[in-house]
Amino acid sequence: MILTGAARVAGVMGWPVAHSRSPRLHGYWLDHCGVDGAYVPFAVAPDDLARALDALPALGVAGVNLTVPHKEAALGRMASLSETARRIGAVNTVIVAEDGSLAGDNTDAFGFIENLRAGAPDWRAEAGPAVVLGAGGAARAVAVALQDTGAPEIRIVNRTPARAERLASDLGAPLVARPWDDLDRALADARLLVNATTLGMTGGPAPVIDLAPLPAGAVVNDIVYVPRVTALLAAAAGRGLATVDGLGMLLHQARPGFRAWFGVDPEVTPELRAFVEHDLDA
Ligand code: NAP
Repeated sequence: MILTGAARVAGVMGWPVAHSRSPRLHGYWLDHCGVDGAYVPFAVAPDDLARALDALPALGVAGVNLTVPHKEAALGRMASLSETARRIGAVNTVIVAEDGSLAGDNTDAFGFIENLRAGAPDWRAEAGPAVVLGAGGAARAVAVALQDTGAPEIRIVNRTPARAERLASDLGAPLVARPWDDLDRALADARLLVNATTLGMTGGPAPVIDLAPLPAGAVVNDIVYVPRVTALLAAAAGRGLATVDGLGMLLHQARPGFRAWFGVDPEVTPELRAFVEHDLDA
């Protein structure tokens, strides 16, 4: 793609930022959609975040994604926050408005639900309780997404019970905190299990979870995407349960930012998945 002087510019701020897959992902879409634009990594140290964000309008940058460690720190720098960002308590997408003000959004909930619906088209939120393992930033986004779908009960199960209780109390009904050592009972009538912990990531411990109590017809979604087929997903498939991996969440969460910055709603296609998988495998 050859840029013109009118090219739109967006990017990702992180510290470090070199590991981010976002430039590759947005670069693919820019190329495939024939957009006169660029998406670049910005290595921004925590102490420089405020100055870097404040400089975006002067530079004519259309907006940025934020990754670790900036998602929570940026909350206070936004002129406006979407309701979703406020409920999740973190910003991952910044849009520079016409008047130069910064609007903060969080697209992880959108990415989660779009991926779940694409990967398990028969899943219906209202069909029964959902169990979410974890109470960190990702679990918060998953819980917000499920709360918006109308799931009758969302059971938060976390190693540190106080964090599960805090998440349930922050977001309110139908979230409830359930103890980790009572997971069997939490799973017994569940229609969905989501792993939103770091368990199962390559190089780390796998979750030791007995899936036997889950009813036939339940869906198991692991948002860990390295490896793509986690031990949890392999066990669920072995039991004949429907499975959804985490890579699609990463791809779908990028769509709203791309649309806002470059004016095109990009697609998540099998070719895009293969392109990003190739990078992850490398
Ligand atoms: P985080 O805020 O650090 O939270 C980590 C969570 O994992 C906490 O609930 C923590 O429990 C739990 N945990 C860690 N080690 C554990 C262990 N040994 N046993 C039981 N629980 C354990 O991390 P995060 O940002 O939420 O990310 C969580 C995962 O989601 C990561 O693997 C990340 O890559 C993935 N993720 C995927 C996407 C996607 O697009 N697919 C997006 C965001 C995140 P405690 O509270 O007890 O410490």
